[in-house]
Parts: sequence; C-alpha cells; structure tokens
Amino acid sequence: MKATGPIPSGYEIVDGELAIGGMKTSALVAQAGDTPLFVYSTGHLRQRVADLRAAMPERLAIHYAMKANPYSPLLSLMNELVDGFDVASGGELELALNAGVDAARISFAGPGKRDRELQRAISLGVTLNCESEGEAARALAIGAQLGITPCIAIRVNPSFDLKGSGMKMGGGAKQFGVDAERVPALAQHLIAAGADWRGFHIYAGSQALSADAIIAMQAQTLALVGELTDAIGAAPPHVNLGGGFGIPYFPGDEPVDIQAVGAALSEAFDVLPDILAETEFCIELGRYLVGEAGVYLTRIVDRKISHGEVFLITDGGLHHQLAASGNFGTVIRRNYPVAIATRYEAEPEEVASIVGCLCTPLDKLSDSAHLPRADVGDLVAIFCAGAYGASASPANFLGQGPAKEMLV
Ligand SMILES: *Cc1c(COP(=O)(O)O)cnc(C)c1O
Repeated sequence: MKATGPIPSGYEIVDGELAIGGMKTSALVAQAGDTPLFVYSTGHLRQRVADLRAAMPERLAIHYAMKANPYSPLLSLMNELVDGFDVASGGELELALNAGVDAARISFAGPGKRDRELQRAISLGVTLNCESEGEAARALAIGAQLGITPCIAIRVNPSFDLKGSGMKMGGGAKQFGVDAERVPALAQHLIAAGADWRGFHIYAGSQALSADAIIAMQAQTLALVGELTDAIGAAPPHVNLGGGFGIPYFPGDEPVDIQAVGAALSEAFDVLPDILAETEFCIELGRYLVGEAGVYLTRIVDRKISHGEVFLITDGGLHHQLAASGNFGTVIRRNYPVAIATRYEAEPEEVASIVGCLCTPLDKLSDSAHLPRADVGDLVAIFCAGAYGASASPANFLGQGPAKEMLV
C-alpha cells in the first residue's frame, strides 16, 4: 500500500458522495455530459484569495500567473479577485484580454517573445518583463516604429534561488532574466532611451511549502531591490517579488504558513529605505491560487486483477493529468490526493491502482492506494487538479482529445 496526498479542505459530502459547490459529482458529470471532467470551485477560489489578502500586508498586490490555469471562465472570475495578471506568451495575452482583463493590469514575462508578440503587447500598453538586453532593444525599436512608449520592467536573474522549491528559476546560469549585475546598466539605458521603465520582476522559484524559505527569499529579493535601486539612482515604480507558494500534493506535505510570511513581509516593508516609499509591490502566484480549487473526475470503465493486484481502469489519464502521473517535473513518483467520489464516505477496504486508458505504463493516476471497493461506473476524483492539469498535459496523445472543464 502507498499513501496518498492530503485532500484539500473545503469539499463537501452530499448523500455519501463528494460534492463541489453543493453539487454531487455525479450530478456535475451529468450536467457536463461526460467524463473526464475538470471541475473548478468558485467558492474555493474566492476563499483562497480572501485568506491570502487577510494574511498579506495591504501594500502587497496579488497577481495571477495564468499559466497555472487559462480556462476562460476561471480567468474572468480571477479578474474580479486579483490585482493583475502575469502572462507568459502572446497566446495567454489574448486569452486574458478575451476574459476581460484590462491590458494595463497585465505583465508579460517569458523568454523568446517574438516581434509580433512584442508589437501586440506594446500597442496595448502591457508591461513587458524583459528577459534580456536583446529583447529590450527589440522592444525599444518596436516602440519607436509604432510611436508608442513601451512599458518595460526588467526580469532579474537573482544570484539566489528559492530553497526547497520544486522548480528553481533563479541562481546561476539561467535562460530567464538578466543577470543582476547587468541590470543597473540596462535600466539606465531604458530610462535614457525614453522607455516607461516599470521596475523589476524577480522570480526565484516555484512550489515551496516552507514559510522560512519564502521569507528568506523575499528578504533577499528586497535587499537586491535596494542594491539595484542605489546603483541605478532611481526608484523602481513597481517591483514583482515573485511567488513560489506551493500547495500540499503528497503524503506529509503541510500547507504554507501564510500568516508567518505575511507578518515577515509587513516587517520588511516597515524598514524599507526611503527611496522605495512610492514603489508598488506585488507577488505573482499560480498554483497557490487555483491548484486546490480543481478536481479531475474520471469514470472507472474496467476493473481487473493482475497477479493478485487490483487495477481500476478509467476513461482519463496522463493526457489530462500529467502531473498526477508523476511525469511533469517530478523525480520520484508519489500519489496525489485521490478518492472514489461516488463512495466518498465508504471505508477503505482494498489496495488498488488507478490507471488511465492510454497504452503506456506511465499512465498511472494512483499507485497501490487504500480505497473503498470501487467498480465499473464509479467516479474517481483526483484533487489538486486546478493548476497544471488540462493545459499542461498532452491531450492529443493517442487521439484522446481534451477533457471537459467547468467552473461551479
Ligand atoms: C510558472 C511561473 C509562475 C507560477 O508558478 P506557480 O508555481 O504556479 O505559482 C509565476 N511566475 C513565473 C515567472 C513563472 O514562470
């Protein structure tokens, strides 16, 4: 038997079944018309942002990094809840605009922005988080061509990373950002060239659960902002402090202590140098905002025994939930939180593996989990499916196609 991750709080039980937003999962599937289905909970999303705002200093704006989940109805909801959107491609920019996000609230990061993406962003007044001197030069040239002053922040490649993070995105040689020591010269160049210099974007990593690690990273980030500001001789109008708040996916994982992070950040803001008095600060979060608000529902289509082991074979799989299969940036495969949604209150009584319908042994959604006895027709719920699920999985693999999605 292998343990499964902790089921996020905030889900309900109706008639013995898992329910989301007051509706039984079987009813949600009936409404959507089919499985597999991603369900995202409005109540969960609202609560998450409200709790985060309550914990963080008022001065800190909250941005949504939409690569975690670009589902249009979810973007429209997040647009009501957060202060800004961080996009990382021209495609994401269009999705954000279509969901009603005001271009002035969008910043655009990501290496390898093409000229037409820069053109579109500049003409809309989107802030570019420039990833290199070369990109900054192209942005200036395109701005001049269009007769529009480009809004440019510099993405800084810091010399530190986020300790304990699942993905390190700073420290040492990286394809992201401009090495910190070259940032002052670039900022001075942008200011002299007449760009609307917006400040810094400093992103050091993702998926950290330790408040101490996040606090240390934020302290290092603020110290770096102080040094860069002194070297440039001008205050950044805006600083994106990055994010990196993780969510518990696996057995033993504990949620981030956001009270501790907020308290430390308040203290840090209280002792900022005077030159940063007018600077606006934000954090950008993806999975922390949306990850636990999503559930992937898939139906059991076969139940079989092989060499004494039970396999529950579903109509879903890694083509929608690559991360739960352990094939999206993880070294050791561990079980996400899972449940038999239609027997949510039943006692566990057997060890079974939940697999997908793809012809590859990689397609395992849960390995040897202790579960209630489930049969053909039952629904399986994979939790923590709100981030890096539908849009980060190879939906066309084996001709399967995308899952349905709904926001309730
Ligand atoms: C991926 C990414 C994020 C979001 O990461 P999460 O772990 O989902 O919070 C935020 N900012 C940048 C620059 C990123 O690349």
